[in-house]
Amino acid sequence: MARYTNAVCRQCRREAQKLFLKGDKCFTPKCPMEKDGRDVPPGQHGRGRGKTSEYGLQLREKQKARRYYGILESQFRTYFKIANRRPGMAGENLLSICESRLDNTVYRLGFAMSRAEARQLVNHGHFTVNGCKVNIPSFQVKPGMVIALREKSRNLEKIKANVEANAFRQPPKWLEYDASNLIAKVVAAPAREDIDLPIQEHLIIELYSK
Ligand code: SF4
Repeated sequence: MARYTNAVCRQCRREAQKLFLKGDKCFTPKCPMEKDGRDVPPGQHGRGRGKTSEYGLQLREKQKARRYYGILESQFRTYFKIANRRPGMAGENLLSICESRLDNTVYRLGFAMSRAEARQLVNHGHFTVNGCKVNIPSFQVKPGMVIALREKSRNLEKIKANVEANAFRQPPKWLEYDASNLIAKVVAAPAREDIDLPIQEHLIIELYSK
């Protein structure tokens, strides 16, 4: 299964904003965006940023969205095609599809400190959907489905620590979470207002519609 393997923090520097891809580190002074500032793009000589064309703005918005969710280009484009076929606004549909991924759901529930960690936990088979083990991070959760941490995974120190550290986090409205049993039900498809990411999805649609 393909995934992004280059240095993670350079993605934030490229987008000139924190994408929170590394869990705890993102909230400490060790974050390179705190140390180096936001206006230094990746690369040895830290060149300044030139003027951005309309195409450049659209491209950056698409890359930013992909990076938030850790999705490669081919899959993201497939999501766009599905979003475009659905009724409603294509941009909102696209974000709803990204948000409905199982790895993102696990992250939103607080089982992981980052989407990358959530992806790894799903890969390792720690979660069930409707009682069956699912180890596909891109699996789409749908209203009515029940996501749970597997019995045998409940004593894993890493997951216990994550759950404890994220106990204050409010799950999004489209998930009904029973924290004492570590189980959640999808009660609706994620709507745009449930997605707190600063993405201008119309720019992505304009880019792909060319
Ligand atoms: Fe981005 Fe987190 Fe790295 Fe900071 S520590 S640059 S927010 S991934």
